[in-house]
Amino acid sequence: MALVAKPSSGDQGGDAPHLVFIPSAGMGHLLPFSRFIAALASQGNVDISVVTALLMVSQAEAEHFAALFAAFPAIRRIDFNLLPLDDATLAGTDPFVLRWESLRRSAHLLGPLIAGATPRASAVVTDVTLASQVIPIAKKELQLPCHILFSSCATMLSFLAYFPTYLDGANADHLVGDVDIPGIGRIPVDYPPNVLRNPDSLFTKQFIANGREIAEADGILLNTFDALEREALASLRDGKVVPGFPPVFAVGPLKSTSTEKEAVHGGASSSIAWLDEQPARSVVYVAFGNRNAAALEQIHEIGAGLEASGCRFLWVVKTTVVDREDTAELNNVLDDGFLVFMVNGSDIDPENIIAVTLDDLSEDDRRELEQELKKEMAERLKLKLTGYCKTRIGVVKKEWVDQEAVLRHPAVGLYVSHCGWNSVTESAACGVPMLAWMMTLGDQRLVATVIRSAGFGLWLEHWSWDSKSSLVRVAEIAEKVKAVMGDEAISARAKEVGREATKAVAPGGSSHRSMQEFLAALR
Ligand code: UDP
Ligand code: UDP
Repeated sequence: MALVAKPSSGDQGGDAPHLVFIPSAGMGHLLPFSRFIAALASQGNVDISVVTALLMVSQAEAEHFAALFAAFPAIRRIDFNLLPLDDATLAGTDPFVLRWESLRRSAHLLGPLIAGATPRASAVVTDVTLASQVIPIAKKELQLPCHILFSSCATMLSFLAYFPTYLDGANADHLVGDVDIPGIGRIPVDYPPNVLRNPDSLFTKQFIANGREIAEADGILLNTFDALEREALASLRDGKVVPGFPPVFAVGPLKSTSTEKEAVHGGASSSIAWLDEQPARSVVYVAFGNRNAAALEQIHEIGAGLEASGCRFLWVVKTTVVDREDTAELNNVLDDGFLVFMVNGSDIDPENIIAVTLDDLSEDDRRELEQELKKEMAERLKLKLTGYCKTRIGVVKKEWVDQEAVLRHPAVGLYVSHCGWNSVTESAACGVPMLAWMMTLGDQRLVATVIRSAGFGLWLEHWSWDSKSSLVRVAEIAEKVKAVMGDEAISARAKEVGREATKAVAPGGSSHRSMQEFLAALR
């Protein structure tokens, strides 16, 4: 155990509240924490400590948090040594859910860590995955207020909070049918995380425990804004979902920070450099989150579908759940003949494109050609080419991109997305229309209902990643991509949502006011 205390710029003679953050695992959970922490640290007059469990599960998380601490040296890091998780029954569990379990089983060690913090902690902010463990420790053991920074939408929060009531009805301990949430409406059985239909899964057990405890929190911070989820927020605040629910502070959309830029993740600038060369609103950005390994057959259909759409595209391909394990080369993932390089050679028309099916070449020729092409492209397009493939009209990459910078770029006209909540708030904030194509695992269908009701995208419910039988084929991908790219109504609505987002966080806006109310509640 080590407590690294540094003088805080925000420490004003002990008046400043001292918030102890206890984040969980997975970039989708960590990013709202780092963004919220950065926002607080920038405005000053708040002391901040962050409980950090090393080694983080993914490289992206590790780099991201290192950068946050480097950018804000006043933030204290409280190292949290987890107990070994020696449980054979958990073999095969998702690595991030496993880390949540590790954190939960080690949570009793948090009391002394927080009690030892200086200046004395004034409140704890933790992730929903740790709620049932951390709320009692903060409130009963340490007599500190405890807030939850929730990583998904208000609709998902309503489902989490109401689920125990549903279970206490005739439904024993799992999800067996549609769920009617007061003030929200009917949630079809296949919208919430599929795994909840299995009462024995670790996720289900954690989810139910956290859902039962969340109403005991002192406040819930949400990365959303009133205009985006007006009804769900009102129902939560009015106690329609769960009577006596704690205050809900909608403080989003949370902005990405300088710590997320290309200096941290590498390669991002190359995407932007390429986008700089494309006409306004001409590029489809395609990405399915940072931990969603795509099935190879579906990847092949997407590649061909994007080409067939005739639209330019920037496509981020992830083939593993944890980035540290990603050793796949793009040319092993994509179809033969998909790797197409643009060449500006003296004997080739600069506008011409030559296709290189790498398999047709001898190993030596392939390497030589690759070197030549990389040099040429690097010079011409000022690209850093690691892990990069240039296709006929698009760019495919597998490293971390600075997604918010991509979405903010004027060349981007559509985001084909798995509907992680952070991604949706980023697209909303940037006024970029969405085509929702989610993997069915988590909150993504509930998130897609927000896109649908807010009207800034299209959700094709039958598109899934479930199995071979439901592969989405080239022609349909091409058709829908083209259709949404050309849909003036969706595009206009997306711009309006973007303006509403900007208004929400500006002084006097709903999220700005919520943030002030949260800070006032601390004092
Ligand atoms: N992200 C990014 N670059 C990548 C992959 C992901 O910046 O190459 C960011 C993305 O902008 C979003 C977060 O990682 O903020 C992913 O969270 P989200 O909730 O959208 O989905 P998840 O990956 O957790 O399913
Ligand atoms: N979640 C929750 N309580 C829990 C665990 C998860 O409310 O105990 C939520 C979490 O915020 C997310 C959703 O369940 O909205 C799915 O979790 P996961 O992180 O696996 O999905 P992802 O964000 O990666 O899509």
